[in-house]
Amino acid sequence: MASLMQFQIIIVGGGIAGLAAAIALRKDNRQITILEQSSLSTEIGATISLQPNATRILQQSWGLNNLLEESNGTVDHGFRIYNTDGNMVNEIPLRSKRQYGADRIMWHRQDLHAYLRKIATNTNGEGQPATLRTSARVSCCDCQEGKVTLEDGEVLDADLVIGADGIHSSLRTSVLGKMIKPKPTGSSAYRLMLPTALLNESAPRFAANIKPEEPYTSMVMAHSCRLIMGPARDAQLYSVVGLVPDDRMNEDPDSAQSWVTRGDPQKMLETFKDFPAWTQDVLRNAESIGLWQLRDIDPLETWHSGRVILIGDAAHAMLPTQGQGASQTIEDAEALGTLFGHISERPSQDEVSSVLAHVFRGRYERASLIQQFSREAAKPATEQGINVIRMRPDEFMDYNCTYRGVRDWDEKHATVALTLVLNE
Ligand SMILES: Cc1cc2nc3c(=O)[nH]c(=O)nc-3n(C[C@H](O)[C@H](O)[C@H](O)COP(=O)(O)OP(=O)(O)OC[C@H]3O[C@@H](n4cnc5c(N)ncnc54)[C@H](O)[C@@H]3O)c2cc1C
Repeated sequence: MASLMQFQIIIVGGGIAGLAAAIALRKDNRQITILEQSSLSTEIGATISLQPNATRILQQSWGLNNLLEESNGTVDHGFRIYNTDGNMVNEIPLRSKRQYGADRIMWHRQDLHAYLRKIATNTNGEGQPATLRTSARVSCCDCQEGKVTLEDGEVLDADLVIGADGIHSSLRTSVLGKMIKPKPTGSSAYRLMLPTALLNESAPRFAANIKPEEPYTSMVMAHSCRLIMGPARDAQLYSVVGLVPDDRMNEDPDSAQSWVTRGDPQKMLETFKDFPAWTQDVLRNAESIGLWQLRDIDPLETWHSGRVILIGDAAHAMLPTQGQGASQTIEDAEALGTLFGHISERPSQDEVSSVLAHVFRGRYERASLIQQFSREAAKPATEQGINVIRMRPDEFMDYNCTYRGVRDWDEKHATVALTLVLNE
């Protein structure tokens, strides 16, 4: 039973951002409720990876030492690049642990989601477990009062409201007072997930080339299309993502606006007809093909208003080219957990607003830059560099992966600001 003296937190959205925020904020005298519109009975059949900047937070800052064993995660050992003749032309070992002190880990999305859900809602963690209410769709929020209105008319009150409701966020409209529509980015992604045993049996040429049990991310690139592939769930499954510019795709890109849109196998084969024959064997064997038009948003003018803050894709949806979308949500959650860490009593609206302003200051520059670089990396090489991004990919990898939490970020930026003042 909720006590009136408890710090009441509502999280809108039970995706990776919402669950991570619940884990980060769990503490004595707090009641956390996650409102999720779906029944959460199915997660998307695709892989997802977290980069060292995020796995370090999970394993080292939050002490989730059992992450790999309990979530069926696979440590990525490196990238294998193939040319259009089908020959491996480069193998780049990933030395994340040595270089960045943490691993890049790949999952089936269902497995990572289920693990985070367990940690957010089980009775073993700090404070009270978060309550997850499914089939609870939020329509809007009064940001100053912290009143969240569900689609069925129910109104819930909270001291702090977190909008983790994804790229098509409703809370974003409440925070900004206007609707921001995600932008098509001119690319779409086919998504396939196949049992590794089926691949070995039905696509032996593919299996011989790729070795689907080995923990590597493999990439084939041709004519601005890319296949990005890797194992999941202890190599029982193999995932293939085909990135295609919309103007090379044989499907109507406007039909591909949701995760559940199906791709047409023949049209997909036509798009990848110039790819090595062995890659087409795997495309031919796919039973179910997802198609997703890639969208992102421009950096927003703000993420917060009154008692409400946006995190994850609601705040900074980005393209998957840097594999940083989910990792940035984990960084948002860490910032919330750390900067609300000192608050144990029910906070006033001013206290909440002031911490949210700090979270925004600590996160905005970095998330916006990674958003921009992800957009830049999606362009064909001939078009890159027109915008402001001037870093090389390896420099950006360092920028992405060396992050050590919001306090460290604050300190480094305070030092830079002080140096600038002293030099003036
Ligand atoms: C093809 C592709 C591949 C990708 N690969 C990677 C990768 O390898 N690594 C990576 O880091 N990122 C990847 N990403 C990006 C990553 O998936 C997202 O950045 C991440 O899932 C964002 O999490 P989120 O919780 O903010 O949003 P979501 O995962 O969209 O979750 C939002 C949740 O809110 C719920 N919701 C929405 N509206 C409401 C409402 N009104 N009321 C209640 N609930 C609501 C939704 O049902 C959903 O459960 C990829 C994306 C794509 C498209």
